[in-house]
Amino acid sequence: MISKLELLVKLQAIDLKILQLTKEKKESAGLIEEAKKVFSEEKIIMSTIKKLVIKKQLEKKQLELELAETESNIDKHNTELNTVKSNQLYHTILEIIKNEKQKQSDLEDKILQEFDDIDHIQAEVDSETEKLKTKEQEYHTKKMDIETRYQEIEHELLSLSNERENQVTNIDPSVLKVYDKIHTHKKGLTLAKINTEFSSCTGCNMHIPPQKISEVSLATTPIFCENCNRILYIEEKAE
Ligand SMILES: [Zn+2]
Repeated sequence: MISKLELLVKLQAIDLKILQLTKEKKESAGLIEEAKKVFSEEKIIMSTIKKLVIKKQLEKKQLELELAETESNIDKHNTELNTVKSNQLYHTILEIIKNEKQKQSDLEDKILQEFDDIDHIQAEVDSETEKLKTKEQEYHTKKMDIETRYQEIEHELLSLSNERENQVTNIDPSVLKVYDKIHTHKKGLTLAKINTEFSSCTGCNMHIPPQKISEVSLATTPIFCENCNRILYIEEKAE
């Protein structure tokens, strides 16, 4: 004959599985978000680097315009030199040309530096593009895995819910009411096995007096642990 407590132990096994799967189901949405975050962060890095390339190209363009202007000034002042009559003005213009040539040389150096910088950043864009591709693939694979698992969990939960419905039809409604109340409250173990070797409750480790242990072994209605209020039971030794 199956004792009432044995039915409750079976019910608890189903309920624990339901709790665990419900938790896993809830967490899966977070896992997808987390995977998406890694991918999004990579996208932000990429967009930052691309913006830097554009900024550098604009800087280079600006320097090239300045260089063209400086070169045209040098030409203009060289032509002027041929027409001046005053010695003093001649030397002043020579000085201006000297300064402009210095400026020209500085600008050429800067433009070369910009070319170098753009090459480096472009190499980074290329490597980042590869990384992004991998991350995107990883994200989609992970998302698919999580979604597949989610479907599995839903199926399992449905079959567990049916199993539970069948199970509770065999249990005395008043006992079931007590069980459900503790189950809702404890969000986990509703029944606690007595560790007969140490005379203790496995739910809270409190000592259980011998008299209570014998009461539990003969009980036809639930007997509770005085400390954690779980329903106590003794596991029958396999014959
Ligand atoms: Zn206890």
